[in-house]
Amino acid sequence: MALILNDNWGHLFEMSGGDEAQLLNDTSRIKGKEALNRNIEAAEALSGAIRSTLGPKGLDKMLVSENGSVRITNDGVTVLKNAKIEHPIAKMLIDIATNQENTVHDGTTSSILLASELLQNAWELYVKGIHPSIIANGYSLAYQKSTEFLESLKIDSEISDLLEQVTKTSLSGKGDKSIQETLSRLSCEAARGVAKTGKNGKIKANSNDIKIITQKGGGATDSYLIEGLVLAKQACSPDMKRTHKKGKIMIIDGGIEMKKPTLTSKIMFSEPSMISAFKDKEQEIIAKQIEDILKLKPDILVCRDGIDDSAIRLLQINGVCAYRRVERDDLELLSRTCNASIIASPANAKKKDLGSFETSDEENWSGVKHWILKGTKQSGMTLVIRGSTDILLQEIETSFSDALGVACQILEDGAVLPGGGATQMALSRKLKKWAEEFEGRESLAILAYADALEIIPRTLSINGGYDPIDQILALNAAQASAKPKIANLLGININNGTICNMYDLGIIESVQNHQQCLAGSTAAAISILRIDDVLWAKNDPTFPEGIGEEDLEND
Ligand code: ADP
Ligand code: MG
Repeated sequence: MALILNDNWGHLFEMSGGDEAQLLNDTSRIKGKEALNRNIEAAEALSGAIRSTLGPKGLDKMLVSENGSVRITNDGVTVLKNAKIEHPIAKMLIDIATNQENTVHDGTTSSILLASELLQNAWELYVKGIHPSIIANGYSLAYQKSTEFLESLKIDSEISDLLEQVTKTSLSGKGDKSIQETLSRLSCEAARGVAKTGKNGKIKANSNDIKIITQKGGGATDSYLIEGLVLAKQACSPDMKRTHKKGKIMIIDGGIEMKKPTLTSKIMFSEPSMISAFKDKEQEIIAKQIEDILKLKPDILVCRDGIDDSAIRLLQINGVCAYRRVERDDLELLSRTCNASIIASPANAKKKDLGSFETSDEENWSGVKHWILKGTKQSGMTLVIRGSTDILLQEIETSFSDALGVACQILEDGAVLPGGGATQMALSRKLKKWAEEFEGRESLAILAYADALEIIPRTLSINGGYDPIDQILALNAAQASAKPKIANLLGININNGTICNMYDLGIIESVQNHQQCLAGSTAAAISILRIDDVLWAKNDPTFPEGIGEEDLEND
């Protein structure tokens, strides 16, 4: 497979009718061994940049943007997303980490480290003369077998008892112990708060049902959960009735105002009376919309767009409290919290589209008005994150939303595996044994895959300040000599460097985290291995760092 690094290439190819020789005059090219070597170097450079963040003793990175704004983070994927990385292989790896983040909310650094290690090990086989397609094949076999092995390594235990431990493990390295404990407690409480049992008996916990808002001041451990939704909004007019008990809410995905024309247009009036007639017509349309709303008797009206001043007056006179310019995500939250439909316009609204709420009120928090609304079925929750600086608030918000995602996933589909390198070591050992069954060259790739898995316990030890060789040997020996029931639970206790039962220590992670990490990193490694030709358009303005033009010209 060739990696083509400019969209123009495809275009050129079409135009030329496939005259490759001529086309290649317009491109630079690296082939075969050199191409693979460069791509693997790029992956190694990327994993090197985030290696030191892994695990509870991983350190933070300070990111300073071009405009001078600062962010401090321990999250591998945040580091990479914020770095200006041009290399296409690096971008591929960032993609797998982003996917890991979006699907399982954890394991991003691990997935990049593993992908890079798989490539390093593949390179060693390649220089010994093993063809990349055989290595790719072996990796694919090893991955499939690993997913089977993961099933057998699952911890058999009541999931809801383990929720706090899983979220705490996912928060390792993020802030100090007290912050981790607060965020873990709050995320589990929030996840349990929004979890619902469906008709089929399955639990559904949607992390989007939880609103996160930040409130500057205090420390992170002062963060708290509120039942109901809190939005940094105030009613359109201070004269509107803002305290309500048991009422109806109407949500409109639009506004009560005259829409501005999308095209620049001029309206010519030949007589002054036409201006007032035009204005009257506008008012008439707005009054009709208000009439449609009032017919359904809502206590609160929420609009995504603006509400005209005349409409505000009419609503206020009729005892309706209105909120305008509410973001689409918040409309959806309100809709779920109050079981209301989001309607397109008042003309089409029906009584059943209105939702119900228990209470609605406004409070002044540090000079900013906040609207607090509780739904009738106690659905909807808000986490108020406290922190002394914007930088801290941002990092806590990211950590909380990840922990919340992990908690919701565990509640929905709970199965866990031991952390601290225990699972990777157990998988590695099982794969090595399994590789003995193979006669062909693929067995070498399976062994390379098994070795690559050890990058996680190895990096955890390095970041903890221990000797990685001694630790890996000790872990391997401990798993080999322990009773089968506990062997796979043994991992590295980073606090003192001993080999311990990770389940007893409460260092456990979701099965999905491990599955996704293996799937993403294997897929990336295989696709990079299959590239034997890299073609750069010579005039590419975004010429990637890491590969010098002069190198390409020598090729
Ligand atoms: P990732 O982005 O891959 O989740 P983290 O920095 O969160 O990276 O580190 C996760 C790794 O740290 C996992 O392998 C997890 O098992 C391990 N880990 C977390 N807490 C501990 C601990 N107390 N002792 C040993 N390993 C731990
Ligand atoms: Mg993590």
